[in-house]
Amino acid sequence: MKNFKKAILILITASLLAVAACGKTEEGDAAPALDVMIETSEVAPVVEATTETTEEREVFTTFTPMIDIESGVLERFLRYVTYDTQSDPRADVSPSTQGQINFLILLAEECVAIGLSDVKISEHSIVTATLPSNLDTADIPVIGFISHVDTSPESSGANVKPLLFENYDGGDIVLGSGTVISPNEFPAMKNYTGQTIITASGDTLLGADDKSGIAIIMTAMEYLLQNPEIPHGEIRIAFTPDEEIGTGIDNFDVETFGANFGFTVDGGPLGNISFENFNAASAVIEVTGKGIHPGAAKGIMVNSALIAAEIVSAFPADDTPANSEGFEGFFHITNISGNVEKTEISLLIRCFESDEFEARKNFVTELIAAFNEQYGENTVKVSITDQYYNMREMIPAEIIEYAKAGYVAAGVEPIIYATRGGTDGVRLSFMGLPCPNIFTGGHNFHGPYEFIPLESMVKAVDVVVQLAMN
Ligand SMILES: [Zn+2]
Repeated sequence: MKNFKKAILILITASLLAVAACGKTEEGDAAPALDVMIETSEVAPVVEATTETTEEREVFTTFTPMIDIESGVLERFLRYVTYDTQSDPRADVSPSTQGQINFLILLAEECVAIGLSDVKISEHSIVTATLPSNLDTADIPVIGFISHVDTSPESSGANVKPLLFENYDGGDIVLGSGTVISPNEFPAMKNYTGQTIITASGDTLLGADDKSGIAIIMTAMEYLLQNPEIPHGEIRIAFTPDEEIGTGIDNFDVETFGANFGFTVDGGPLGNISFENFNAASAVIEVTGKGIHPGAAKGIMVNSALIAAEIVSAFPADDTPANSEGFEGFFHITNISGNVEKTEISLLIRCFESDEFEARKNFVTELIAAFNEQYGENTVKVSITDQYYNMREMIPAEIIEYAKAGYVAAGVEPIIYATRGGTDGVRLSFMGLPCPNIFTGGHNFHGPYEFIPLESMVKAVDVVVQLAMN
């Protein structure tokens, strides 16, 4: 059985390479453009805002099946990043923004267009679809692949203009608005000399997190549909909203999804694989002051902004994201806003070990208690909310081994790393769907320095194909 699988893997790898090598074929070789109608029974959004736009309208009239993996994943990625899908942590609905809903509908349409089955949009706009098994046996696991559509609220995702730097020379990449992505600051760039680097144009993030994951999954599914001789079990895919604000998975129905295990395609550089991540909490500190005309303020005014500044200074100065890496944790002050009467501080608490996690949360509550002793009861309030936990304990070793074998079969060396953040896979793992995170190829997420080498995305497609095979 093992030898059989190995033989098939070699065969498939060879065929993938052959496809990649043959490049673009003559126009006449491409299959004719498809006319696809979305049937309301197949895609039935319950979200009101979407109903009108999905009823029996013609979509993808210009959809043409991809010619090869490289052009397929590139075309998709460049198209996806132009959609503004930033999520909004202040919203109390999911998806938190209309832009995500619009994009999710487009993805559902594309799933139908490439020939996936059972395409659905849930009440909360989670898109799911199935690639049916092409094997006789039912005795193999159903595998899921999952990516998120939203981009980080930390940086603008509107009007993203992707730039391609072909045959990258290993030097500085100069973008607009004074943004320079330099190997002096990001030495990993040197690994991609001679490759095609994709960046944003200087003012926005790129959105490789996680539109590269979507492009990779969609391209891998289309590749498997175009090559039915590749043996695989049932594959389920899902595109979800609001990963960056940690709420999209609240409405994910693991049981209906029906996979035995899955992979989030939401990781960083080529080869990375992660099944370990931060424990995470967020805290909001609210300082209440007392406002009065500054000319008559002596002994009366309490300036909440000044107390907030003191509180921020009381955090260890070197315990920040900019001063930590690997398995180190941090406090991250994300926002301070206010005036004399009220000032709010938002912060994130992150670390890998659970005892350290408790200690960090205690540090915050004790700090606030000390300030209340100094300035009077209820001057400062804090609320701390756990966001997610380290998924390490939820992932069986066999799944890690299976994943690593898929990497090796695709000619990619697995590099195990601890995710300095959370992914939907973390939440899903705790909900009963073990979900390691696999690479997309991207670097410097959540800001204008974000970039992704095309060649890494192509490798990720290959890895997804390998992982889909049984
Ligand atoms: Zn992501």
